[in-house]
Order: sequence, then structure tokens, then C-alpha cells
Amino acid sequence: MLGLTRSAALSTSQSCRQCGALQPNGSVSFCRRCGIAYGSAPSAEAQLPSCPICYVTVDDAGLLASLAGSSRRLPIADHLVEHERHPVGDDEWLETLRVGDRIRVGGGWAPFDLVRRYLVTGVVDGGRGRQVRHDAIVMAMSQVARWGTAEIDVFADQDDWRAARLAITRLMERYHRARG
Ligand SMILES: [Zn+2]
Ligand SMILES: [Zn+2]
Repeated sequence: MLGLTRSAALSTSQSCRQCGALQPNGSVSFCRRCGIAYGSAPSAEAQLPSCPICYVTVDDAGLLASLAGSSRRLPIADHLVEHERHPVGDDEWLETLRVGDRIRVGGGWAPFDLVRRYLVTGVVDGGRGRQVRHDAIVMAMSQVARWGTAEIDVFADQDDWRAARLAITRLMERYHRARG
């Protein structure tokens, strides 16, 4: 899905500032979903869109910070194009661990979206949100690992948790390892 979003963004650089939808072509000047013109600011009541790659939500003007180091603010479409040169992590590698909507983490499985969100936002958000997501991943992994067993061995469970936590930490390090 990320791949689709990216290639669509490359063919156009205009997007709705209210919902983030890409302009289908130059002859369409209003977003069909929101009814506002491409390039105009979102309504104050609108639920604002977030970047599908780094999960940052647009500001009140419907814009995101440029990733290229300037102080420019960009619509989502242009911001997505910048992610081509400024990825948040090694998504090509992460996709190799993906099967459907799940991802292999160490010896277990967890929901792909949950894990990716943790890997991306965990480095900037060191607070409660990070811990909650981390625990949700560990929970998902240990529940999957427990399927089919009739008895719950408390000590084995603790090992599972430790192993799951270690696997997630390794995943985090590998995802953010500098390439090139
Ligand atoms: Zn829209
Ligand atoms: Zn982004």
C-alpha cells in the first residue's frame, strides 16, 4: 500500500489539504470528497490527514514540514515525493518480513501496521504512546504463540515476553540502520 501511495504521488504533486487525496489529473480542480479546491486550506472542523509514511498530521493550513531541511511547508503529495529521498527507515527490508497484514518478529507474528507505526514513531515519541504500542505488539505476539496450548506456563510466558521484547528491539535497530 505504501508503494502505491508513493508511485501515485510521483505522477502528480497536488493533493487535497483537507483529506490528503491526490489530485487525479490537472483538469479536476476540486476534491470530490471534501468539495474544496486543491491548494486551499482545510475547514476548521475537518479531521486532518496524516502522512501514511511518517504518520505526522498536517497543520491547520493542511501542510507538513519539508523533509529536505528547508523551512518550507508542503502539501502531502509533495511531502510524499520527498520521502523518496528521505525515507524514515528501511521499508524495503521491512516488506520482506510481511505476510498479508502481519509481520514476522523474531519467532512470532504481529500486525504489520502496528509494528511499522511503532518503528517509525517510537524514535520520536519516547513517552506513553511508545510504551503502549510496544506492549500491544508483545501482546499480539505472545497470543499468537499461545494458540493451541491448553496450559499456561507462567515461567515460559515470561520467557516469551522477554524474547518478544528483544525481537522488537532488534527490529527497531535494523529498520533504522543507516544504509549506503
Ligand atoms: Zn479532500
Ligand atoms: Zn511523512
